[in-house]
Amino acid sequence: MSGEADTIFALASGAGRAAVSVVRISGTESGNVIRGLCRGAVPPARRASLRTLRDEAGAVLDRALVLWFPAPRSYSGEDSAELHLHGGAAVLAGVADRLAALGVRPAEPGEFTRRAFLHGRMDLLQAEAVADLVAAETALQRQQALRQLEGGLGGLYRAWSEALLRLLAQQEALIDFPDEALPADVETGLREEILALHLAMTAHLDDGRRGERLREGLVFAVMGPPNAGKSTLVNALAGRDVAIVSALPGTTRDVLEARVVLGGVPVTLLDTAGLRAAGDPIEAEGVRRALARAATADLVIEVHDPQTPATAQSMLGEAAGKRRVVVANKADLGTAADGSALPVSATTGFGLERLSRVLSGIAAEMTATAGPPTLTRARHRAALGAAAAALARAADAKLPELRGEDLRTAMLALGRITGQVGADEILDSLFAQFCIGK
Ligand code: GDP
Repeated sequence: MSGEADTIFALASGAGRAAVSVVRISGTESGNVIRGLCRGAVPPARRASLRTLRDEAGAVLDRALVLWFPAPRSYSGEDSAELHLHGGAAVLAGVADRLAALGVRPAEPGEFTRRAFLHGRMDLLQAEAVADLVAAETALQRQQALRQLEGGLGGLYRAWSEALLRLLAQQEALIDFPDEALPADVETGLREEILALHLAMTAHLDDGRRGERLREGLVFAVMGPPNAGKSTLVNALAGRDVAIVSALPGTTRDVLEARVVLGGVPVTLLDTAGLRAAGDPIEAEGVRRALARAATADLVIEVHDPQTPATAQSMLGEAAGKRRVVVANKADLGTAADGSALPVSATTGFGLERLSRVLSGIAAEMTATAGPPTLTRARHRAALGAAAAALARAADAKLPELRGEDLRTAMLALGRITGQVGADEILDSLFAQFCIGK
């Protein structure tokens, strides 16, 4: 990251023609920049003020709303300003040239949020929540990101860190006075507290990956024998032609994906190749891919044509252990489906609403995150898992010195989640995913 002391600017609103474009400026020089640009004093803090912006020669660039956010009460924690310009390309180009002449450099992706983190305006979890909020496609994802932005998750981890620090202090006391007759219940009490904390962490981890699933979206694999109508069903659920539908068995040779929203959750429907013992190597490869991808899916939608005997069951491979919804397609042809299967007709639309409702219910249930904040990234899960494992070791440690080391390991792992420890490498990969201007 170049020049954290630089004053930076970026277009914070979407690119292209717009009624209004918002340019953000942040850094120690922001005040001087505004004075230069507006040829006058900075406007009153946090109030929209109409100003005339001028270039070096004094020519008018725009009449714009200017907002001044003195440090530390700004998004980045630095002196900052926002310019609400008329959204034309020439206005933007003129203002950008003028800002460059005033020594302001274009921001890198996520640089405003990185600065907010560095100035203690938010922890790493909140910075991630900003990225999630910007990327949120559905109301549920938005709610989850906002909850994380409020800081509940970071608060929970910090509370655990503080509890660990207390335990560590007690542990050190035990090490320092090994020969003194400390009552045995001090040792027992310490162990019980470690176990209680371990329990809280494992309960928090045992959340069915709800938060991650909601953030990433779910994957439902549509599987079944060739010609059962899987592609037709995916197209019908997605409301568009995603898959090639053909009366020739084995047409879908690769895994096609369709993105839909079910129960407020983005769901990727995988249209897998027909599962059968294929003679043709290309088709066999399709079957292999279908099984591999389905093995990572959250749900299998198993499609049958009751007119032809089910052969897919034995071919689901690893996906056989997955949660499943069984669909009996081609209900319009009148063959009775067996009891547990949902009768639908992908071509007439019969039963599709009911199937949608069932799938939406499952999607909502898999991601329901009411109550305490849930972790939302694999990164959080890995670090928490490491913390819990260290606590389990600490509880069983025979030597007090080793226990202290395990408690310290657990604290470091927690600190890594909130960014108190070793944030640098995480920052680089996180902010690379941000858009410029955030
Ligand atoms: P896939 O191999 O499982 O993906 O099957 P396709 O979606 O390609 O469909 C195979 C054939 O079954 C096509 O000719 C479809 O038009 C037909 N088909 C699919 N769904 C239905 C349905 O609900 N009713 C009837 N009558 N035909 C269907």
